[in-house]
Amino acid sequence: AHLVSIENVDMRYGGPAGTLAVSNLNLKVDKGEFAAVVGPSGCGKSTLMKLVTGLHIPQTGDVIVAGRQVTEPVSIVGMAFQNPTMLPWRTTLENILLPLEIVEKHRHRLRAHKKEYIQKAENLLEIVGLKGFGSKFPWQLSGGMQQRANLCRALIHEPELLMLDEPFGALDAFTREELWCVIRDLHAAQGVTIILVTHDLREAVFLADKIFVMSSRPGRVLAEHRMPFARPRD
Ligand code: ADP
Ligand code: ADP
Repeated sequence: AHLVSIENVDMRYGGPAGTLAVSNLNLKVDKGEFAAVVGPSGCGKSTLMKLVTGLHIPQTGDVIVAGRQVTEPVSIVGMAFQNPTMLPWRTTLENILLPLEIVEKHRHRLRAHKKEYIQKAENLLEIVGLKGFGSKFPWQLSGGMQQRANLCRALIHEPELLMLDEPFGALDAFTREELWCVIRDLHAAQGVTIILVTHDLREAVFLADKIFVMSSRPGRVLAEHRMPFARPRD
């Protein structure tokens, strides 16, 4: 079944006479799938992110996530961006627990099951190779380590969908490829559906089950490519 379905969406910024950012956008992502969206700057990748997370509502067409029309910000989604934004006065572990303090439903669960959530955060830290770093402050971690912690934070509330917007863009080539493996492990271990936005085709080919290629002026999906072989998920 589709977890995300974008159907015939037009999104215009700045009123009816404004820029048509994306036009007749169609894109479907199945539950559990790892999808990548590639395309040049200006093709509508950020717009797509904002449509799926409910930060923008399209003028035309439908955005459906987990069977529901998106009409407001969606809480079943985890997000990570190019620059990790951790609160410097909180430890890494406290940063990871942050999403649980924001949504009321999660706040209740955090109060009732604090130990359990700390354990879960520690499990995530272990998967991304940061075992024992929960008590460090973000500024004590390297850029790559901060981005790993960022990924833990995006996953702590067990989102059905993880949206990644150029999460490796600010990292050196070596750290980036290390993190590709981390993401692959997270996808395998958590079974979460992922939409990765990137301008790096090599990254998309390495990670994704399905690749959408977008073009600009206005943004639209030019091609959809399903990877023809089952990739190792060890
Ligand atoms: P990408 O993330 O692929 O670079 P965007 O989604 O940011 O693409 O932009 C898609 C198109 O929409 C571009 O032509 C961009 O100039 C335009 N656009 C994006 N945001 C705005 C905005 N707030 N106001 C006007 N035009 C915008
Ligand atoms: P990354 O590849 O995650 O960017 P670096 O290459 O900067 O990490 O660091 C390599 C290793 O050095 C890390 O895996 C970690 O074990 C150690 N390290 C880096 N920063 C710290 C720190 N602030 N405290 C303790 N160990 C650290």
